[in-house]
Amino acid sequence: MESLEAELERARDLDVDELADAIESIGFECTRCGGCCTGYAPDEPGGAPEGDGAGGDSDGADDREPHTATVFPDEVREVTDAAEAAFGESYDWRDAARPMPFGLSEGDDGEPVGETFEWALATDDCGDCTFYTEADEQGACTVHDARPLICQTYPFSVALDGTSQPMGEAVDGEGVVRAHECEGLGRDISREDAVELAAALKERAVRELEEAIGVRDGYDPTAAERADGDVVVFDSEGPKAADGTPIDGN
Ligand code: SF4
Repeated sequence: MESLEAELERARDLDVDELADAIESIGFECTRCGGCCTGYAPDEPGGAPEGDGAGGDSDGADDREPHTATVFPDEVREVTDAAEAAFGESYDWRDAARPMPFGLSEGDDGEPVGETFEWALATDDCGDCTFYTEADEQGACTVHDARPLICQTYPFSVALDGTSQPMGEAVDGEGVVRAHECEGLGRDISREDAVELAAALKERAVRELEEAIGVRDGYDPTAAERADGDVVVFDSEGPKAADGTPIDGN
């Protein structure tokens, strides 16, 4: 495996036009099915339950895994601000993000305990992204203009070590571009939209690697003691509690 720094250099050298060529070749148009914004059935990673269209079948809610998408700390603040502007009410960190659950366990009070290294978008009781809504049987994002890079670039990723893969298996690829399960794949995409998506895809790869390097360099094994048994989320800004509050140094 290449070092994170070497992969970051590769990410910075990605050619947006070449990425756009690959996206055009694979093809994509969002059908607004909601599959990438909602919880998913265990046998359908990344997708809405079969026949569920815009993801509105509450009967299957108990069987579904919660939507899990990585969000950077500055993106948490952006979607929080966007939600406050959209709904005219106060939003705080926990309304927008939750500790990435991988590697955590449940404490006596039901709250997560342990250490984790990413934030995930918050979910509602059905396991859907808290910012997802439906109108006229079509999915919509209530913070669309501020949605995180992982959302802007779904269902694509780049094949670089240290970058995250979205929910769902890679089902297609062209060069370094990978395409993950999505019913919108294979549809015509304009050059303008392909270039815009490619630029966001490159930005996401660079940001993910910068974040990973920041987390690695800022890891502080004593933070767990200061957290007094609560969860610690290490992001590139340092260790934080589940509500986004920094866990200060000694
Ligand atoms: S922030 Fe918006 S685009 Fe991203 S998962 Fe949530 S509803 Fe979907």
